[in-house]
Amino acid sequence: MSIHCYAARGPRRPLAPFQYRPAPLGAREVEVAITHCGICHSDVHLINDDWGISHYPLVPGHEIVGVVSKAGAEVDSLKAGDRVGIGWQRSSCGVCEWCLSGSDNLCPDSEAICVGHHGGFAERIRCDSRYCFPLPAALGSENAAPLLCAGITVYSPLRHHGITANMKVGVVGIGGLGHLALQFARAMGCEVTAFSSSPAKKEEALAFGAGRFVPVSDPKALRRAAGSQDFILSTVCADIDWAELLEALRPNGKLCLVGVSPGDIRISPDALIAGQKSLCGSMIGGRARMGEMLEFSARHGIQAKTEVLPMARVNDAIRKVERNQARYRMLLSNI
Ligand code: NAP
Ligand code: ZN
Repeated sequence: MSIHCYAARGPRRPLAPFQYRPAPLGAREVEVAITHCGICHSDVHLINDDWGISHYPLVPGHEIVGVVSKAGAEVDSLKAGDRVGIGWQRSSCGVCEWCLSGSDNLCPDSEAICVGHHGGFAERIRCDSRYCFPLPAALGSENAAPLLCAGITVYSPLRHHGITANMKVGVVGIGGLGHLALQFARAMGCEVTAFSSSPAKKEEALAFGAGRFVPVSDPKALRRAAGSQDFILSTVCADIDWAELLEALRPNGKLCLVGVSPGDIRISPDALIAGQKSLCGSMIGGRARMGEMLEFSARHGIQAKTEVLPMARVNDAIRKVERNQARYRMLLSNI
């Protein structure tokens, strides 16, 4: 039995049809028939080997929604026919201090679904059942798939850093991650500001939940935002003016990076010391947080805005992501 999918044969190569024989289904694994898979910018980083961790042939795809088709002998939490989602993480050791404290995303032995394994640009996938999440009925598959990576990646730092309704939250980069971050921060009751290099996104950013739109390409507009934010979440995958963004924080404010920019960040110590500011990062989110985020999304109507293409048009979809033309998540469909 082979699994049909799309793979890159080397860095920066277009994806082409590929098939592989999966390992026998483990006792704690499930097989999922994939209906939808989002395209995260991390897939583009992996295809291009930007991080030096890619293995080829590389089957990207880690915002997966599908239906369980087989369950291993020891799986009791899921059964054939259940609708599930799978994100970036495919396993963890389960016994280290991070796993035991609910931060299994930080487990040193954790594995990613499409690093050294084949991902979700495919008809099927096999995976540890602990990392297959049942989807609340209120979430439609087309709008929920991006929650599995983009959603958890922006929700988790908002919760980890104790964001509350009285706070002012800025989101930098209104793409796949950013448009969901605006929705989550708004649903948490915060005053939300969108920082974007694309003035054309203003109306939609306001509709996603921003009360204010700052065009970062206009230095005057960014300067006017000085001292305005308690928490800024940067989702951009480009080098921007970090010192100016730190300036936009209020005292005790935090700038949290989830977007992977290519260059180093150079800031003077004074930019943090005066005003007691912090610069930090965040990596996806653990299993408990994932369940919570899916429930929160169902309750508050958090939805990815997606553009759906058939799986066979994967290269057209990737091109749109690379050119910042996705509004706001490209989604591949098998149905
Ligand atoms: P995306 O949909 O392409 O969105 C990125 C946004 O960044 C763009 O929409 C754009 O927003 C902004 N941007 C792009 N090029 C820019 C430039 N040259 N200058 C300024 N802004 C620019 O990407 P995504 O899927 O949201 O992913 C974003 C980043 O997060 C990627 O680096 C990805 O690898 C990373 N990521 C990290 C984690 C984690 O666990 N930390 C998880 C998932 C993804 P505007 O048009 O509004 O400026
Ligand atoms: Zn991702």
